Amino acid sequence: MVGYPIRFRPPGLYVKDQNQNSMSILKVARLGHPVLRKVAEPVSEKELRSDATRQFITDMVQTMREYDGVGLAADQVHVSKQIAVLEVADNPRYPEKPLVPLTVLINPIITPLTEEFEDDWEGCLSIPDMRGKVPRYKSIRVQALDRDGASLDFVAAGFHARVIQHEWDHLNGKVYLDRMLDLSTLSFITEFARYWLGK
Ligand SMILES: [Zn+2]
Repeated sequence: MVGYPIRFRPPGLYVKDQNQNSMSILKVARLGHPVLRKVAEPVSEKELRSDATRQFITDMVQTMREYDGVGLAADQVHVSKQIAVLEVADNPRYPEKPLVPLTVLINPIITPLTEEFEDDWEGCLSIPDMRGKVPRYKSIRVQALDRDGASLDFVAAGFHARVIQHEWDHLNGKVYLDRMLDLSTLSFITEFARYWLGK
């Protein structure tokens, strides 16, 4: 079986926060797991309003923070649904990056606003310990629903746009390696820090 229907809890570590609310650190699918190559299904209005989906989104946020990710797509935690979360706080994996508030994107649609691409480094929780330089559109329009079902429609640029394009790719069965025009920058994190940092 590939992926878990959203009503089932994915495998993970179940813990409670300081207010005794239950939350989970979910298991992250790694490259090679077929769920990462599927196009995720849209979330229906009924699903969006369900407690199971709300809890799942809470768990996604917790999982992203636990692993110092700046974004996480549902298929990365074995649920093939169009849900992504992103947040750039003070992140040790991405120091010096502009801050992005916690954002939940459901059924996102992305429209490039320029033909201009920008190269920058990316990593991925599903492709551990690696970095590569990836071209991304410099600015995009993002339309989606938030976790309460309200419509979002905004323009993102630079690193913010990059994170969203990375997560949107996941929801469409793609990973950043597919976007690299040339794999010569692909590096393990130790070698990245030693030879590439700042380049
Ligand atoms: Zn990723």
